[in-house]
This record gives sequence, C-alpha cells and structure tokens, in this order.
Amino acid sequence: MTLSIPFDNSYARLPGAFFSAQPPSPVKAPRLIAFNTDLATLMGIAPGEAEDMAQVFAGNTLPDGATPISQLYSGHQFGQYNPQLGDGRAVLLGETVGTDGVRRDIQLKGSGRTPYSRGGDGRAWLGPVLREYVVSEAMHALGIPTTRALAAVETGEPVYREGPMPGAVLTRVAASHLRVGTFQIFAARSDANSLKRLTDYAIARHYPDAEGPIGLLSAVRDAQARLIAGWMCVGFIHGVMNTDNCAISGETIDYGPCAFMDVYDASTVFSSIDRMGRYAYSNQPDIAVWNLAQLATALIQQMEDREAAVENATEIVHAMPGMIRQHWLAGFGAKIGLTDARPEDAGLISDLLSRMAENQADFTNTFRALATDAARDQFTDPTAFDGWQSAWQARLKDEQDPTAVMRRANPAFIPRNHRIEQMIEAAVEGDFTLFHRLNTVLASPYDDQPEHADLARPPEPDEVVPATFCG
Ligand code: AMP
Ligand code: MG
Ligand code: MG
Repeated sequence: MTLSIPFDNSYARLPGAFFSAQPPSPVKAPRLIAFNTDLATLMGIAPGEAEDMAQVFAGNTLPDGATPISQLYSGHQFGQYNPQLGDGRAVLLGETVGTDGVRRDIQLKGSGRTPYSRGGDGRAWLGPVLREYVVSEAMHALGIPTTRALAAVETGEPVYREGPMPGAVLTRVAASHLRVGTFQIFAARSDANSLKRLTDYAIARHYPDAEGPIGLLSAVRDAQARLIAGWMCVGFIHGVMNTDNCAISGETIDYGPCAFMDVYDASTVFSSIDRMGRYAYSNQPDIAVWNLAQLATALIQQMEDREAAVENATEIVHAMPGMIRQHWLAGFGAKIGLTDARPEDAGLISDLLSRMAENQADFTNTFRALATDAARDQFTDPTAFDGWQSAWQARLKDEQDPTAVMRRANPAFIPRNHRIEQMIEAAVEGDFTLFHRLNTVLASPYDDQPEHADLARPPEPDEVVPATFCG
C-alpha cells in the first residue's frame, strides 16, 4: 500500500503574488496519531502504511504531485488592521477533486517557518492539534460547514510555549483557504488586477452562479449567515473571528481558543486573549456582519462605477442581520420542535433562553431533554421551566411530530471543553484513548449512545475550563 493523492493544484497555478513557494520543514521522529479514512476516500486518496503517512503528514516526504506553498493574506485582528499576515506556520500541499466532485485543499498546519512567520516558530503543539482534529470533525458531524481533519502526527520534537510541549502537525482539509483577509491585502495595496483575478477564482471555485464582485459578496453573505446561525444553535463560540479567520466558502475555519458552552450564558467568552469580549457568543452575528463589511470594502476596490458599487454592497451587507435572524429562528424553532417557526415564535425561544440563563441550565442537555420531558431538571429552580412549558405546549399543538424535529436539531453530544482538556492532558502523557473515543462518539452526535453518557455530562465545578489558549 502506497499513499497516493490525486493532486490538481489550481491555487498554485495563480500568479506568484498570491503565495510563496515553501516546502514544509522536516521533523525528527514523525508518528501517525490519526488518519481519517472516510475523508480520504471521499477525496480520492488511497492510504498507505502508517510509517509512510507519518512521513508525508509531518512534511518530511513530499507526495508526488504536491506544490507546497504558503498563502498570503492580511486581516483585521480584534478590529485592528494588520497589513500582512499569511500562513505563518502552514503549507498548502495542493488540492484534490473528490469522488463528490468537490475540490478541497490539503494543508499542513505546524509544518515550520514560512516567509510570513514574523516572530513565530512555525510550529504547533499537540494540544491545539488534537483540539482542532476533534472539534472540526464534531462540527462536521453536527451538520455545520467546517474545515476537516485528514491526519494528525507527532513530530518527536519539542515546541516551546509556557514550557516544552510535544510538537505536532495537523493536516487540514478545506473547501479552500480563501479568507476575507485574502481580498483585503490586495485591496489595501490598490492592486486591482490581483483583486479581480482572486474574485474570478473564488467565484469559479465556490459560487459559479455568482456574477462579479457584488454577486460574490452576496453569495458569501448567504453562506456566512447560515454558518453563524449554525454556531448559535449548538452553543459554539469561535473565539477569534478576525477577518483572516473568516472563510469565503462559509466554512468554520481556524479552531483556536474555541469552545462549546456548557451552562447557557450569552456573554460567554472563552478566549484568554479576548479581553474586551469582542467575540463573545452573543456578539458573533454582529461580528459576522462587520467582517462582511470589510469584504465589501475590499471587493469594491476593483469596480469602475464606485458609487453604484457602494450602494449595492451596502444593501447586501445591511440585509445580513435579518438573514441571520431568519436562520436563527428556523434553527432554534426546530430545537423546540417547530417545523416552520414564525417571527412571533422568537419571543417563546428567547423566554426559554433567559430562563435557562437565570437557572444555570446546560445549553445542550436542556434542549436535548425537551424531547423526553426531563428538561425541568436542568434548571436550578425547575418551576422556571414549568412557567414556560405551558406556552410551549400550546404552540406545539399545531405540530405533526415535534419530538422527531427536536431529536434532529438537538445533539446529545458536543465536544465539551473539559473533556477536550482531559484528552490533551492524557495525550501529553502518551495516552490517546480519550482522543479516539471522542472521535468515535462525536461522529454520531444525534444518537443517544447511553454507554457514553459520561461524555454528555457537564463539567463538575472543579472540571470547568475558564479559558482556552492559542497554540
Ligand atoms: P491565528 O490567530 O491562529 O489565526 O493566527 C494569526 C497569524 O499568526 C497567522 O498569520 C498565523 O499563521 C500566524 N501564526 C500563528 N501561530 C504561529 C506560529 N507558531 N508561528 C508562526 N506564525 C504563527
Ligand atoms: Mg488564522
Ligand atoms: Mg491560525
């Protein structure tokens, strides 16, 4: 068995302004931790022996057909424009077109320094690599667009963070790595030719029906609106919604200090670097609109009739909050058993959420328990639930099979933060049991799996993880 990847590298065929040729830097002693066989099959990849795959996914061996590059971009980080970012620790090996006809990037993350590393070491340590592996695959199984994980390897080399940590490389798969920041850098440089080239490329790759920059903006808005509502429905907090972490494809990208909420609290912030709470759970819709406005600002730099462009782009951006609300209403409506939630149902949903917040109710388990009449046990004062239940029951009278609707909308399992931390602690000690178990259970998040009930349990007070850190 030899690993074979049917590369077809469209991005590397673009002009050199978009990237730097950059091979990954070899590491000492690669060891394969995980390989995602289902995803590989979908991508047309034939797996090889574990040792060979470890060499490839650590960056020690370049597979046939790879054209390794680091991509250039800029972006707003916490609202501040940084004129040059780029893949500081990542290398795009190339793309495949899968058996489903979808073109996907294969990127090594943590593969060494690049021209865009600035002060960084170009590396990743085991913790964030395993977190991204588990959480991105869980997100996919939850039905929310996301980058995915093809492989994880240990490098056999230390990476220095607070102290020496085991180094690792994640092989990330994405519909593309085009970000809002990829457009911003060429707009900021007043490079209209590159901007136009990039726009054409993005349209051809992601939204073939879109017409021109305004059509692209509109398509990205639709995809991002759906995405953000999806996050809200599962209690996900991205943590670093900088414009360089906002993918044009509408996939969740760049799992850093992200987390799923346990107890429902709309102001939850998880990232230790987000001191102002800019990227708190409830701010995510507004931030997505802000990010789209930055994309609009960049895209219109290539348009001749600037006045008309501004008018059209403004209209598109202004419609986004309403779209997110619509997706939110449909999503949360389903979570309480409604097939077609109406605008007047928003009050019922919000009322439940505020009662949950006042009663330290676990977000995931409360919604899951709605289908089994056990939801009131999630409230510190169960009568707070009873007060809502009568109005809810009255509304459900019009519904055919609300239980089935709820079971499809409310997962039993999410990647709980304390389990992720426990998984990382064990892995650092060489024990990958919990990592593999989480991957298995989270592949079917809407199934009960009673033998894994411990993974559905919220953290005990001493297990709560207050903040997650970048890696
Ligand atoms: P992030 O916050 O992970 O989206 O990263 C922001 C920027 O910092 C990107 O350009 C990354 O490539 C870069 N970066 C993050 N970590 C490292 C690292 N260890 N070495 C070099 N560059 C890094
Ligand atoms: Mg990033
Ligand atoms: Mg990153």
